[in-house]
Amino acid sequence: MSNEKQFVKEITPQGEDFSRWYLDVIKKADLMSYSPVRGCIVFKPDSYEIWENIQRELDFKFKETGHRNAYFPLFIPESFFEKEKNHIEGFNPELPWVTEAGGEKLEERLAIRPTSETMIGHMYAEWINSYRDLPLLINQWANVVRWEKRTQPFLRTSEFLWQEGHTAHEDEQDARRETMQMLEIYREFAEDFLAIPVILGQKTPSEKFAGAVDTFSIEAMMKDGKAVQAGTSHYLGTNFAVAFDIKYLDRENQHQFAHTTSWGVSTRLIGALIMVHGDDRGLVIPPKVAPTQAIMIPIGPPKSRDQVISRVNELYAELKKAGVRVKVDDRADQSPGWKFNEYEMRGVPIRLELGPRDMENGQIVLVSRVSGEKKIVAQSDLVQEVENLLAEIHQQMYDKAKQFRDDNYISVDSLDEFKAFLETKRGFALAGWCGSDACEAQVKEETGATSRNIPFTPSVQKQVCLVCGETSAHTVVFGRSY
Ligand code: AMP
Repeated sequence: MSNEKQFVKEITPQGEDFSRWYLDVIKKADLMSYSPVRGCIVFKPDSYEIWENIQRELDFKFKETGHRNAYFPLFIPESFFEKEKNHIEGFNPELPWVTEAGGEKLEERLAIRPTSETMIGHMYAEWINSYRDLPLLINQWANVVRWEKRTQPFLRTSEFLWQEGHTAHEDEQDARRETMQMLEIYREFAEDFLAIPVILGQKTPSEKFAGAVDTFSIEAMMKDGKAVQAGTSHYLGTNFAVAFDIKYLDRENQHQFAHTTSWGVSTRLIGALIMVHGDDRGLVIPPKVAPTQAIMIPIGPPKSRDQVISRVNELYAELKKAGVRVKVDDRADQSPGWKFNEYEMRGVPIRLELGPRDMENGQIVLVSRVSGEKKIVAQSDLVQEVENLLAEIHQQMYDKAKQFRDDNYISVDSLDEFKAFLETKRGFALAGWCGSDACEAQVKEETGATSRNIPFTPSVQKQVCLVCGETSAHTVVFGRSY
């Protein structure tokens, strides 16, 4: 696997071995390379461009809601971590330390940031003095490092790219409003951009962010029934404000601690969209983030080649002008059939074929990656037809993913029922939970599934705990996860 030149000849079918399928697909589609450093991958242009498309849209949404970008240092002094007990306890096992630089041993070790609450908390204490400085709404696009034990390309890497929002507010109410607003932005983005249906809810205490009062997440189901936590939004209360002394003078001239939040999504989203939409032929990339939305392939005998290519180029210019991310593959050394397979494998949403007969009739052929359907349209309508088809493909992908999730999302009353389900199927289970850590731990021990979240809108409210049978305090989604 570490062999860069290794060529994936066939993609392992999903039904045979889903993990193998995933690794085959990302290698064959040239999305990433393994690096010599454990758990760190190279994002090659096609996956990096998906990330850029994700960034562009989210950045727009953050700015629309009043946030501004800033950049904080990569290195965090050890003493910062010691200020918030839960935070250091949670992150300590995953921190890489810099102990030497410039040929000298450092007086204080520096952590490579796993997240920036501490550094940003330190700065906010300096920047915030009065209620007039609040709310302070900042986002950072950065890389972070968490020395993960188990890694999986895109989904869980030692170094990953992400955005981390950090905000400070006058009171709990405003900070909680922000926490929910950002969770809703993540939901909207996952569904409207990535065509991934998600479950919104609150994490149980054992699964929440180290140092948070409450953590909320969006959870998605992969095609093997496993969960991916696709984004999180935390209400941090005054925990970091007390630790870093983020105080302000309120309207009555009294000192108050600020209430803070943080929220993030990462390059994990790339892994999620591959696992939600991909099929045995390869990637299926949601149109709104696809690096190439339409690929144009000239077909027909050599004698008509120049004429066909020249028309293809005219139509290409029209699509490009309309803002479609389109490419032409007019290589003479590959057959159209080879190209069809290649771009299907790479998940390009639309294939456009033009041959001499189409030229005569003023037509062009559109083929959808997701349904495989062919449509013949007038060249004069091409831009509109492509735009319509991209929208249609997005909707079909979302509907398909939602149908799959709903089909593999059951409601259970007991642990035995959940275990029986997992013996033959894979997926999520909605169940009652009494609120005790012991019952939650037992579910994990006996099924390998963890609580994903306490959904805001479960399809049913469960009455009894699936483990102890006592009255349930919460209705929880359980699932095995990446
Ligand atoms: P957290 O700061 O722990 O709430 O993480 C924020 C988001 O980053 C999570 O919701 C995940 O989507 C993502 N994430 C966490 N750990 C990793 C990792 N090792 N690799 C990629 N993404 C990650």
